[in-house]
Amino acid sequence: MSNDNMTRRKLLERGVALPLGGVLVAAATVQAAQAGDKVCADVNAMDSGQRSIRESLNYTEMSKDPAMTCSKCGFFTAKGDGCGDCMIFTGPANETGHCDSWSAKG
Ligand code: SF4
Repeated sequence: MSNDNMTRRKLLERGVALPLGGVLVAAATVQAAQAGDKVCADVNAMDSGQRSIRESLNYTEMSKDPAMTCSKCGFFTAKGDGCGDCMIFTGPANETGHCDSWSAKG
């Protein structure tokens, strides 16, 4: 194999590899968006009291258990945009979220 063929072959391999890398990054971005990465309650933007109570009750925007999300909690009122209000925190919560005060809707 000549050096010309090696160069052409490498260019062709890279020509395939680069678009494939872009497709993989785009797929990962879509997957992250579908995983519910909407932030309803940004604890970093809250005062120390709100942040402290959310941290003490282990509030998270994404419940580990799909059966125990804020949307299925009795303290949650949906707003229709993926977010809602939590009576415990008297503030926003993500419908996919969870905290230690979770209680099934009655
Ligand atoms: S109490 Fe916890 S689980 Fe229930 S809505 Fe509020 S943050 Fe979500």
